[in-house]
Amino acid sequence: MTDTRTTTVAGVAVDTRHWIGGERVASAETFTDVSPIDGAVLGEIARGTPAEAAAAVAAAKAAFPGWAATPRAERARVLHAIADGVEKRLEELAIVETCDNGALLRSHRRGVMPRVAHNFRFFADWLLKLGHEDFDTRGHTNHVSWDPAGPCVLITPWNAPLMLATWKVAPALAAGNTVVLKPAEWSPLTASLLADIAAEAGLPAGVLNVVQGYGAEIGDALTSHPDVRRISFTGSVPTARRIAASAAANLTPLSLELGGKSPLLVFADADLDLAVDLAVEQYDNAGQVCLAATRLLVEESVADEFTRRFVDRASRLVQGDPRDEATDIGPVIHPRQLERIDGFVQRALAAGARAVIGGRRKEGLYYAPTLLTDVAQDSEIVQEEVFGPVLTLQTFATEEEAVRLANGTRYGLAATVATGDRDRAARVTARLVAGTVWVNCFFVRDLRAPFGGSRESGMGREGGTWSFDFYCDLKNTVTAPKGFKDHG
Ligand code: NAD
Repeated sequence: MTDTRTTTVAGVAVDTRHWIGGERVASAETFTDVSPIDGAVLGEIARGTPAEAAAAVAAAKAAFPGWAATPRAERARVLHAIADGVEKRLEELAIVETCDNGALLRSHRRGVMPRVAHNFRFFADWLLKLGHEDFDTRGHTNHVSWDPAGPCVLITPWNAPLMLATWKVAPALAAGNTVVLKPAEWSPLTASLLADIAAEAGLPAGVLNVVQGYGAEIGDALTSHPDVRRISFTGSVPTARRIAASAAANLTPLSLELGGKSPLLVFADADLDLAVDLAVEQYDNAGQVCLAATRLLVEESVADEFTRRFVDRASRLVQGDPRDEATDIGPVIHPRQLERIDGFVQRALAAGARAVIGGRRKEGLYYAPTLLTDVAQDSEIVQEEVFGPVLTLQTFATEEEAVRLANGTRYGLAATVATGDRDRAARVTARLVAGTVWVNCFFVRDLRAPFGGSRESGMGREGGTWSFDFYCDLKNTVTAPKGFKDHG
């Protein structure tokens, strides 16, 4: 059932309006949110306008002094209460997210939504530990403080909507800032549920605002606003360029988490079954993962055996309804994304690539898991982010060549190395250009670690203290040992 204020998705009521200053606000127009699973209409979502975006920034500005002055312990308590709310509504969040973006329900239940709660708990706890030893300069005391910066605009993509939103919302709120969250138009629903949960947890009105709508229509009103003190964006490189240009007017500090074309390097000395498992894992979320190691770089001497075992493993993957526990790969998010993926693959095939598996669409929004060989390093399929279940395989003869191929794109988000030789692991990782390197593992993420990308994969790092460094105005106060009346 849908109307222009609420909708019901898998039995869960979701408000489809904005959340501004502690109130639901409708737009004159709506856009239709459709499920990638079966094309069902999920809701009519408020189609935000620049005026509504400005209203959300105004609400964040008005709420800022109160939240910034709220003692750390109280801010941490509210964040833990939000985490409690996420845990209480975990099943609802999981099913709504699956219906909205098509990612696996079992992943949402067991991995993603628990991590959403953890985002709030982690940054609440980190806030209470945040501090700095004072230090002395010829009797003068230096004291470093992390002051709240002000209203933050947080813009997020559709591939892991609530996980990526809360990875920004939680540290921004912990730091004492207020927030305007703009979720992606292809997966707008769980951001609205988060607004409900935060309000129930006692977050004051205006501290978290959610504006729905098309980035192209309201993005600029948010990112060029002079009252916005931070912009954190996760999404594509072209959008990041537009945001950076828009933010330049006020020199608003930016954190950019962008795309990738990450390599998986498989050396002949690797545990080959482990390497194959790591490679097959790259089809998770139908390949719509920024960190995905979509370029398999395999040492020549084991390439045939690796490929044989890979095909064997990949052919056992179950593709289907993401609500089904047995499913490994669900649909891609949107017909436009399917077109984009297939366009990359068909152009690669026309240019001489060979599809070892896949290389074609299936019914609905499903794309066959694909492995392409005979691809040149400078070809589009090796250089451009596909964001679908499409891997390429290239071979190398030497460690030198492996590193050269691995570093040979304009991205630098992540890299994975499979090797049985510790010395090689150390040598190779030291030379890889990547924000995160995994050795004989993949996707092990710790919120204490710096996360971000090099080159066009991003700007800045978030995680642990790095998040607070970004979301705060760091201040050093130098106090002289003289001049106070109580010191005579
Ligand atoms: P996108 O850039 O199209 O959109 C991301 C967000 O930006 C959406 O909310 C969209 O509405 C908004 N937007 C669009 N135009 C805007 C504008 N002019 N001003 C302000 N906001 C605007 O990206 P997408 O297709 O939603 O997501 C896929 C991309 O995200 C991929 O490139 C992927 O690699 C990247 N990603 C990166 C990470 C990471 O952590 N590095 C994580 C997930 C996804």
